[in-house]
Amino acid sequence: MKKKIFLIFPPHLTDQPITYTLIKKYDLKTNILRASINYNTQGNLLLELEGTKENISSGIRYLENIGVKVDFIHTEIKWDEKACIHCGACTAVCPSDALKLDSNSWLLSFNAEECLGCKLCIKACPLKIITNGL
Ligand code: SF4
Ligand code: SF4
Repeated sequence: MKKKIFLIFPPHLTDQPITYTLIKKYDLKTNILRASINYNTQGNLLLELEGTKENISSGIRYLENIGVKVDFIHTEIKWDEKACIHCGACTAVCPSDALKLDSNSWLLSFNAEECLGCKLCIKACPLKIITNGL
């Protein structure tokens, strides 16, 4: 199974090999979707974990035990591509590269891997064709 999580590190953990531990000790595949970590200041990481349910639970317990705040991404954005008029309103509010207008065709594309689950696009779409699929 896969799980997308958002991690907030306190300053004293920003130099710890946390993703290495998740891989080696908990046998998890880790895919870093977004990172903002500076030594000795708070760090953020959007991470996709892949592994057995038990290993993901153990890995998350490890993170929480060492003091990392773990938030779960519960949003699954659905985009009705056929109804889209490619106006770009959603791209203006999207904080990641999940929603993009192609610079040649001016057609919208959606990459779920990049989505942070903020839901800003849902409100921004004038046709209301972006929804939370969960
Ligand atoms: S939920 Fe947020 S990050 Fe995801 S596509 Fe919409 S605006 Fe972009
Ligand atoms: S705001 Fe709605 S109609 Fe406009 S490009 Fe985005 S999904 Fe398509």
